[in-house]
Amino acid sequence: MITMKFGGTSVGTPESIRQACQLIKAELAHKPVVIVSAHNSPSVRMTDTLVAAAHAAKDGKPDASKVIEAQHWICRELGIDPSSNGIDRLLERFDKLLSGIAMIGELTPRTMDVVMSFGERMSARVVNDVLRREFGVKSEYRSAITLGLKTDHNFGAARPDPRCYPAVAKQISDLDCDVLVTTGFIASTDDGQITTLGRGGSDYSATIFGAIVGAEEVQIWTDVSGVMTADPRIVPEAESIPELTFMEASELAWYGAKVLHPATMTPAIENDIPVRVKNTARPDHPGTVIRRTVKQDSEAGAVKSLAVMKNVALVTISTGRMFGTHGFMSRVFDVFNRHGVDIHMIATSEVTISVTTPNAEAAERAAEAIRDFASVTVEKGLALISVVGERMKGMPGVAARVTKALAEAQVSIRMISQGASEINIAMILEGDQARDAVISLHKELFDNLAAS
Ligand code: ASP
Ligand code: MG
Repeated sequence: MITMKFGGTSVGTPESIRQACQLIKAELAHKPVVIVSAHNSPSVRMTDTLVAAAHAAKDGKPDASKVIEAQHWICRELGIDPSSNGIDRLLERFDKLLSGIAMIGELTPRTMDVVMSFGERMSARVVNDVLRREFGVKSEYRSAITLGLKTDHNFGAARPDPRCYPAVAKQISDLDCDVLVTTGFIASTDDGQITTLGRGGSDYSATIFGAIVGAEEVQIWTDVSGVMTADPRIVPEAESIPELTFMEASELAWYGAKVLHPATMTPAIENDIPVRVKNTARPDHPGTVIRRTVKQDSEAGAVKSLAVMKNVALVTISTGRMFGTHGFMSRVFDVFNRHGVDIHMIATSEVTISVTTPNAEAAERAAEAIRDFASVTVEKGLALISVVGERMKGMPGVAARVTKALAEAQVSIRMISQGASEINIAMILEGDQARDAVISLHKELFDNLAAS
């Protein structure tokens, strides 16, 4: 078996939906479990439209018409009857939900997850309908909720509970069909409340379902030809990377490369399932394959990719009293932990600790608490650039080239760290210098290293 995930842009228009169905039909021999995101194209940005409607409802203006029009347009273009496949029933429920939100004037994370769940529940029905009617595929639709995918109660960023996996696998194997179409991004708690895995979470669903069915491969179909050496909007010369290790891909995902939701690699690593990232519009392009180990062919450079994370906060804590007091660190990290601050980089000396985090607001709250026992500053709007590649391990000179490239671009490094695994070099810079830094780094590391 395989799982095939189609991202929002891969099911964003009637044409791309047909293209996705074509690709699914070509894989029938592998019994695909298909995971679908909500429609996302310039004409239909479904998840964003749902979120905007919920905010408007909270402010007293419940109006489902944009959502209804967009979904009806997709159905009409594909010759699908939304009253026959449950979509109109969902739209009615969404309309009622908006009235409820308006009446209470409150929008909790739990309600927001219900709001966002409608996008995937509608688009997966659309894909299933097109597969059956237009492509003659024996497919079935079941939402991840119906299949019994359970998570914790962390609304907006829920994590799956693997104890439910055997029961979900049984549900799937009991179905009498060639293709199962299900929803990405959503699940429910053990007491039946709808949850989401966080924005972009359908990638994560793809590997979760891969783990559940024991897939031989997880395919992520998207709008770029795999994971790139850098963001092509910043570096037009950026190229697709043929192969990445699990570690490289997860490092890139956590450090801001937008192709994959950060948690995507976890189920793949735990179950040793290769993940292939492919372009729906260019299916012949090999894309990127991510697996435990990759061929170390000598032509490939040691550096695989550059990731940029914007809006990073740098928290610097200083105290004259740290010397000799080993409890200080744990006290500081306890505060970060309590305020939900995700820490990416840490640098310490006897008198200061600097940490970086993408959660600027949580960092401000933590800083307030730390002020009780140390002095703290929080700087916001910085950028974190990471240079990722497993073969940098033990390879002299990469760090020197990195600093040289930044010096040439007149970018100053605020903080730098190389993890003990030597899989990445991470740097903090001023946010407005990130672009120049990436361009210069790409030139130095890819144009030159690839040739050497
Ligand atoms: N529809 C969700 C989002 O826009 C999940 C996804 O597309 O992966 O974030
Ligand atoms: Mg995505």
